Amino acid sequence: MLRWLDVLTFARYGNPEPPHRVEKTAAVWAQELSPEQFRVLREQATEPPYRNAYCRLYEPGEYVCAGCGSLLFSAATKYHAISGWPSFTQPAHKNAICYHFDHSHHMQRVEVRCNVCQGHLGHVFPDGPAPGGLRYCINSASLQLVAPTG
Ligand SMILES: [Zn+2]
Repeated sequence: MLRWLDVLTFARYGNPEPPHRVEKTAAVWAQELSPEQFRVLREQATEPPYRNAYCRLYEPGEYVCAGCGSLLFSAATKYHAISGWPSFTQPAHKNAICYHFDHSHHMQRVEVRCNVCQGHLGHVFPDGPAPGGLRYCINSASLQLVAPTG
């Protein structure tokens, strides 16, 4: 289980190695993604609170990256954070996500990206529920819910 100290250590000293990497030019991403997905994943945009696909959805399944299809979060770790965006307590795997300090908008935050394609997902905060204490606050446009198999 990851904790805030792990997040800070990744952001400061280096992220876990991804299982593989997906690299494409902005022109290719623009062709493959919807305009909304492109703005969030490749231009670090933030979608409006509550008016997004997965904010209030609690169906079982797995959330994969809308850019490259990599598994990011299990629906089992999704919880109601009253933030207006889908929120999770842990990534699906320790190396699914990478962390970067973000000083934009006069705030000190930790940005989270897909570790495989470097797509912007959202931010992680240290005010999540016990025991891990993490809140991954994620844009719906960067995710795709895949139904459980079997
Ligand atoms: Zn990705």
